[in-house]
Amino acid sequence: MSAPVVEGVAGRHGGDQPVVVIGAGPAGLAAAEHLLDAGVQVVVVDGAPGVGGLSRSVELWGHRFDLGPHSFLSNSHPESVTRWLDLAGAAGGVERTEAVRAAVWRGRVVGFPPSPVDVLRTTGPARTASLVGARVAARVRPQAAPARTAHDALVARHGRAVVEELFVPYCRKYLGVHPRELSSAFADKLQGTRRGWRGPVELLTPREGTGAVWEELARRLRARGARILLGTTVTGLATEGERVTAVQVRDAVSEFAVPARAVVSSVPAPVLLRWLPGTRAPAGPALRSRDTYLVHLLLEGTGNGREVGQSSHYVTAYDEQVRTGRLTNTRAWRPATFRNEPRTVLCAEFWSSGDDDLSARSDHELAELAISELPAFGVDPRVRIVDTDVMRLPRSVPVLTAGVEQARAAVDAQLDRFTNLARVGRHGKHDWDGQEDSLLTGRSIGAHVLAV
Ligand SMILES: Cc1cc2nc3c(=O)[nH]c(=O)nc-3n(C[C@H](O)[C@H](O)[C@H](O)COP(=O)(O)OP(=O)(O)OC[C@H]3O[C@@H](n4cnc5c(N)ncnc54)[C@H](O)[C@@H]3O)c2cc1C
Repeated sequence: MSAPVVEGVAGRHGGDQPVVVIGAGPAGLAAAEHLLDAGVQVVVVDGAPGVGGLSRSVELWGHRFDLGPHSFLSNSHPESVTRWLDLAGAAGGVERTEAVRAAVWRGRVVGFPPSPVDVLRTTGPARTASLVGARVAARVRPQAAPARTAHDALVARHGRAVVEELFVPYCRKYLGVHPRELSSAFADKLQGTRRGWRGPVELLTPREGTGAVWEELARRLRARGARILLGTTVTGLATEGERVTAVQVRDAVSEFAVPARAVVSSVPAPVLLRWLPGTRAPAGPALRSRDTYLVHLLLEGTGNGREVGQSSHYVTAYDEQVRTGRLTNTRAWRPATFRNEPRTVLCAEFWSSGDDDLSARSDHELAELAISELPAFGVDPRVRIVDTDVMRLPRSVPVLTAGVEQARAAVDAQLDRFTNLARVGRHGKHDWDGQEDSLLTGRSIGAHVLAV
């Protein structure tokens, strides 16, 4: 028996049916806006209770926090910056700060990138000489062949010693693999040079959390006639030949179908493949993703200001024996908001395959681990931990393995067969997209969807 058809979304099959957008994250909302601009009726469905996806914000201890503070850089793509600032301005405004980064490296907290003095103090004269020598040699040596893996690309740029010292442990910890197993196209992203992380970088942080930006966009879309069905999980797609005809969904009370003249999806490609007849996921782990676990710590100092956590925006732990990957301090991101607060909130990020010893830990154990590692990040041990909160984000980090281009091509070949289907966003494209990229891919839906 087929599921009932949702009422009020579309009266009958034909030209008045909406385009259905799956996912109300940045990419799905940007796609919905693009469709409205083209005069197309839109229904957005999302299983979560609110909009924003991974860029949503949550209420904790009287403030709104991102799922790991989300940076938006003032030197991002100008079209995205203008759009994003317009939304953020209407959603409570932004705080602007110059990014300060630090690293835990060989048991010390150093600036990032480490200064020559940091390198000398941390590694000693002999190792400093080999690191500098390797880097200089890499710069002057012509590259023999195009890089096949991220490791090749990083060695060609930084020298083998630097890569072994910093990038190898970082990749193992963050992505669960050696950089030799990663696509060469990933090297820029690993170096953080992709979006202008060079020289002084200005971070734009919404006062009400990044989620407020996407809530504002959703408000505007609704005002223009879009329907956004939250708490509504997509469970499958109905097809006729090479067209998707409806999206099957489940909400708290029932299952029903939303007729669709076209579908724009921001869910992971392997999930989409499971929903479509005659397709199969590419073999091997090529479209692998990692989990992120966030431990928020409400912290109270002893009065001298330094004890409420480090002053850098990001402190990334390159040492593998420190299990925390990254520590961020809300006070650094939103100084105006937290200036007069006796407390601050730190966020410790852990990365996991989903079936390792980190994933097996209870929330309490993860919080204990984060607290025990605070001194490694330079946090004064006299701070008082007032409360903790743990959030798990399954499959939130796409891993771009060395076979990812072929795997993407295999997915494209199968999905391009469906004439009224488009994919957008971090999971839809299986790329390391941030909000900026999601905004852009959301607005890049092809004519095959706009024109149906
Ligand atoms: C810890 C962390 C830190 C980050 N930091 C930054 C940062 O500093 N700056 C930055 O720009 N970006 C950052 N990002 C990335 C940013 O969050 C994402 O790029 C962005 O949210 C991706 O948007 P999206 O719409 O493509 O996907 P998502 O935000 O993941 O949205 C996808 C949506 O689809 C919905 N969905 C999935 N399956 C279904 C289904 N079956 N039915 C219905 N709905 C479904 C989900 O509920 C979700 O709302 C960070 C991400 C993480 C995890």
